Amino acid sequence: MFETSIIEIDAEKYRSNLRFLQKTFGPEAELCLVIKGNAYGHGEKEIMNLALDAGIRTFGVFSAKEALRVIDSRREGTRLIITGDIDFSEIEWAIENDFEFHVNNPRILSSALDYAKRIKKKAKIHIEFETGMNRLGFEKDELAALAKCLRENRDHFELKGFCTHLAGAESFSNFPRVKNQVLTFDENREQFREQDLVPEQNHAACSAAAIRFPTMRYEMVRIGILQFGYWPNHETYVEYIANSEIEHDPLKPVMTWKSRVMSTKNVAKGEYVGYGNAFLANADRQLAVIPVGYSDGFSRSLSNQGRVLVRGCQAPVVGTVNMNALTVDVTDIPGIHIGDEVVLIGRQGDQSITVASFSDFSNQLNYELLSRLPPNIPRLII
Ligand SMILES: *Cc1c(COP(=O)(O)O)cnc(C)c1O
Repeated sequence: MFETSIIEIDAEKYRSNLRFLQKTFGPEAELCLVIKGNAYGHGEKEIMNLALDAGIRTFGVFSAKEALRVIDSRREGTRLIITGDIDFSEIEWAIENDFEFHVNNPRILSSALDYAKRIKKKAKIHIEFETGMNRLGFEKDELAALAKCLRENRDHFELKGFCTHLAGAESFSNFPRVKNQVLTFDENREQFREQDLVPEQNHAACSAAAIRFPTMRYEMVRIGILQFGYWPNHETYVEYIANSEIEHDPLKPVMTWKSRVMSTKNVAKGEYVGYGNAFLANADRQLAVIPVGYSDGFSRSLSNQGRVLVRGCQAPVVGTVNMNALTVDVTDIPGIHIGDEVVLIGRQGDQSITVASFSDFSNQLNYELLSRLPPNIPRLII
């Protein structure tokens, strides 16, 4: 009631994915679940609760703002790491509230140490190294000063981690670049080890690197997309299956995005459908209108491209996706009624719309489509 669509999260499938990940990475590498972007659209609080129930204790978010949103979902022993943006004004709050955070430049470090001294509480920091992604982290020529600063302030921080972010481990063409990043990371770690600066954990791998390259797992892996049942890209999946004894996809997509038919309509051959002339009926057609549009995260680029499931069949989107509605062709699907369930992502009967297929139509990555699902669509755990 009072919703145009809902997102169901299958708790058992989610737990099954977590078991697969824990088995794959073993006890050596801790699983840090990345729940940025509203847990890739799945609902950050809902996902965090499921994961905590399953015994996971470490989570990553992008910003202090995201950390604030899940602050009350933490339980005894929960670690929350801010892996991206933290502003000077947020550092004191982060230290006071026991958040760990990535430190990727000297100014953040000196602010963190200042606050830690002032409030007499150690900052829990992860030093991020720039190793070739060219986005964030300490550069080679900053390392000497960094080490000096850390040695002089030993009492004011806990060195939770050394970390870096790999640039595109999901594609083979990037392998030389990623391998060089790891070499640089290891050189940096060695340089600090010689000065007696050793972190509790090292971490570099996201989903693709963690699944493909066991040596890049170190003591922790930062896993986003895999936990939700999707592969970073097709290549990663194909390679995994080729190299393992498993024949079927071990991951299970946990999300079903559902709506319903709000109206049906017959149009005669020669009529245009929707705004402008994006779709011309080439024969008599039956259409169904669904109250989901681009403001709900159903990309406008799926106009005349996407499909949905209704009565266990695929129905193609016709015409342009509007802000709050889209139209599908149901001519070949008998017995459509107002109120029939419509699946936008997920399974219905023996048909499914995977995010990957969906994304291929719209040229969006899994990541983009999922994280754009608006937070105001209710997430229902089933
Ligand atoms: C998003 C992100 C990850 C997780 O990436 P996936 O490919 O979804 O596993 C890991 N580390 C950092 C720093 C990230 O921003």
